[in-house]
Amino acid sequence: MGRFDGRVAVITGAARGIGLGVATRFAEEGASVAVVDLDESAAAESAAALPVAAGSSAKHTGIGADVGNGASVEAAIDRVVAELGGIHILMNNAGITRDNLLFKMTEDDWDLVMNVHLKGSFLMSKAAQKHFVAQKYGKIVNVSSTSALGNRGQANYSAAKMGLQGFTRTLGIELGPFGINVNAIAPGFIATEMTDATAARVGMSVEDFRKAAAEHNPVRRVGYPEDIAAAAAFLASDEASYITGQTLYVDGGVTLG
Ligand code: NAD
Repeated sequence: MGRFDGRVAVITGAARGIGLGVATRFAEEGASVAVVDLDESAAAESAAALPVAAGSSAKHTGIGADVGNGASVEAAIDRVVAELGGIHILMNNAGITRDNLLFKMTEDDWDLVMNVHLKGSFLMSKAAQKHFVAQKYGKIVNVSSTSALGNRGQANYSAAKMGLQGFTRTLGIELGPFGINVNAIAPGFIATEMTDATAARVGMSVEDFRKAAAEHNPVRRVGYPEDIAAAAAFLASDEASYITGQTLYVDGGVTLG
C-alpha cells in the first residue's frame, strides 16, 4: 500500500528537475501522475518513464500546457480528469528565472516571471479547486524559494516567491473548510538545470558553483530533487492533514543565518 494509491497528482513543470523528482516519488507511492509542462514532448517522455507501483492500476500522462495561460490550464485540467479519472493533488512547481539587477531588469523580465510563478499558480489552483471543493478533498503544494527572503539580482523572482507564500496562506484560510490543505515548500539550492544555467550565467563551472553553495550551507551539501520530493510527499499525504497555510524551508539550514 502506497500513501497515494488511488490518487491523481498533477505536477507542473515536471518534465525535468524538481518536478520530475516529485513526480517519481508520488508514482513510487502509488499515484497516477499528470506531468504538465510547457515542453510537451519532454512531458510525454518523462511521464512514460515514471514507475508504476507493483500491483497498482495507476497510469501516467504527459500534457503540454502553459500555466500562465487560462485556456491552456483549463484544457490541461480537463484532460487530467478525463484521462486519469479525477484530481486529488496539485503541485505548482513550474518556474523560470530572468535574473538581473533592478536597473537592468526589463518589463518583460518582470512580467514573464510573475506570469509563470504567480499567475500560473493562481490559474492552476483555481481550475483544480472546483474538483477539490466538490469532492471535499484536495492537496495543493506551492513552490516558493529561499530567494523569497531577498536575493541580489532576483527582484522579480523574489517578489513572486514571497507572493506565493501569501497566496498559500490565503488559500489555506479559504479552502480549509472544504477539506483542502494548501502548503508551500521553499527550496534552497537544488542541483537542476535551473541552477546549472545560473552557474553558466555567472561564469562558473557547475562543479565549482555547487561546491560554493555547499560550503556556506550548515549541512555542507547542495540539495537534490529527492529532498524536495520527500517534503512534498509528506505535505500531500493525509499525515499532514492538520497542516495548512505553511511554508516549509527545505534548504539545508542556509536561511538560519
Ligand atoms: P527547471 O528549469 O529544471 O524546470 C522547470 C520546468 O518548468 C521546465 O521543465 C520548464 O519547461 C517548466 N516550465 C517553465 N515555464 C512553464 C510554463 N509557463 N508552463 C509549464 N511549464 C513551464 O527548474 P527546477 O530547478 O526544477 O525548479 C522547479 C521549481 O523550483 C521552480 O518553481 C523554481 O523556481 C523552484 N526552485 C528551484 C530551486 C533550485 O535551486 N533549483 C530553488 C528554489 C526554488
